[in-house]
Amino acid sequence: ADRGSGKGSMDCSATSGNPYVELVSCLQAAWLLGKTRPMEYRVAQLEALGHFLDEKNILDALASDMRKPPFEAEFCEILLCKNEVNDTLNKLGTWMKDEHVEKNVVTQLDSAFICKDLYGVVLILTPWNCPVHIVLMSLIGAIAAGNCVIVKPSETTKNTERLVAEALPCYLDNDCFAVVTAGVEETTKLLENKFDYIFFTGSPSVGRIIMTAAAKHLTPVTLELGGKNPCYVSDNCEVQNVARRVAWGRFFNAGQTCVAPDYILCSVEMQEKLMPALREAITEFYGSNPQESPDFARIVGDKQFRRIRTLLSSGRVAIGGQTDEQERYIAPTVLVDVQPSDPVMQEKILGPILPIVTAASVDEAINLINTREQPLIVYVFSSDKKVMNQVLEWTSRGGFCGNDTLMHMTLTSLPFGGIDSSLGKYHSKSTFDTFTHHRSCLHRSMALETTNALCYPPYTQQKLGL
Ligand code: NAD
Repeated sequence: ADRGSGKGSMDCSATSGNPYVELVSCLQAAWLLGKTRPMEYRVAQLEALGHFLDEKNILDALASDMRKPPFEAEFCEILLCKNEVNDTLNKLGTWMKDEHVEKNVVTQLDSAFICKDLYGVVLILTPWNCPVHIVLMSLIGAIAAGNCVIVKPSETTKNTERLVAEALPCYLDNDCFAVVTAGVEETTKLLENKFDYIFFTGSPSVGRIIMTAAAKHLTPVTLELGGKNPCYVSDNCEVQNVARRVAWGRFFNAGQTCVAPDYILCSVEMQEKLMPALREAITEFYGSNPQESPDFARIVGDKQFRRIRTLLSSGRVAIGGQTDEQERYIAPTVLVDVQPSDPVMQEKILGPILPIVTAASVDEAINLINTREQPLIVYVFSSDKKVMNQVLEWTSRGGFCGNDTLMHMTLTSLPFGGIDSSLGKYHSKSTFDTFTHHRSCLHRSMALETTNALCYPPYTQQKLGL
């Protein structure tokens, strides 16, 4: 295919005025023609999307952008998306069905149901850290729900952005789906257009900008944002296994994962036991010099590298701490003696640093979690069910994963999203529902007009007495 030349891929940065008006109207026209409505059409597009995931260049692009290890790319960017496509294809017929609802005495002869209508033209804006996964996970549901879509990948991961912009349009119907490559200036222009739905994943500060732009047109939004994810480790657990599971979740993609455990909370005694166990896990995973490991990624850009490097001055480096600016390498690092007020505890790390903050008891840990920025997920390790349930019950924000990290992402049956850290939920049926207008419908029977007439004026005393 002649990649990048079709109208499905668009780089309008050189055009003056608002360069996206025409693209948005083309998609609106396709939507109004009802092209995306039939289930067969949606199925065909989803199957094509599944074939895009077989593109060999995806792993190369991710490797060029952040040296994403092939296993991690296969697992997170390809496999999870393939599962999502398959799950959606298997269940789409059921999801699309009208839902018949309860009726009252006067509507017994009628049909009352919720119809799964589409929104129209939706805009999807995505970040760099899982640059294929997040594009596809949102796009799958948007297509399944019957919308026309403009996707804007992150400009930070240049190679993946180029691949998505060039290859994805070769698989999808370009009348209804387009990829726009844009930086901040062009995205601002794009957002001036009226969309029927905006789905944004990224930082809370940009989330506010998106919401402000959406407010101008009263466009509904989903915002999937940040949030520091705590990981409470109670005194009574099998330390070596905990260390492996935490280290895997923290150092996967060099820590550049929105659901990574951001910091450990544990007692001083547990910190003492965890240190050698974490050191052993890191060596087991990446060898004695992680810089030489093919399984450890690099920081995505210079700006991000410098930001993360400054966080190394919080507390004391107990493991790792080495950096190499030229390679954008930061070693898997564990910080101890970290105070909740330290810089590393003020922002989402999105890098391979694991601070440990001590908490004398589970109550103290819960209190610390609840008085901070709300997380996307709360992790707990404990062999005591009571402790597990206590943390589950008393930390209501974000998702919850006990005795492991990241693995909740493998279940299409679990909706994804927090509260302050998100506005809305997605994954599988939740994504379909997000991009669906649940239209309340009542189809009345024309019979029983004499009963109906009881509601009409004149409102006689007899009617009032009913
Ligand atoms: P970002 O907010 O800087 O950018 C996200 C998208 O918004 C990009 O496509 C970017 O081009 C666009 N953008 C940036 N500035 C803009 C502006 N002023 N106006 C309009 N559009 C703008 O985020 P990022 O640095 O790409 O990604 C990292 C952030 O994403 C972190 O905060 C991380 O926590 C978050 N994240 C959240 C999830 C989740 O599911 N909750 C998943 C991954 C990443």
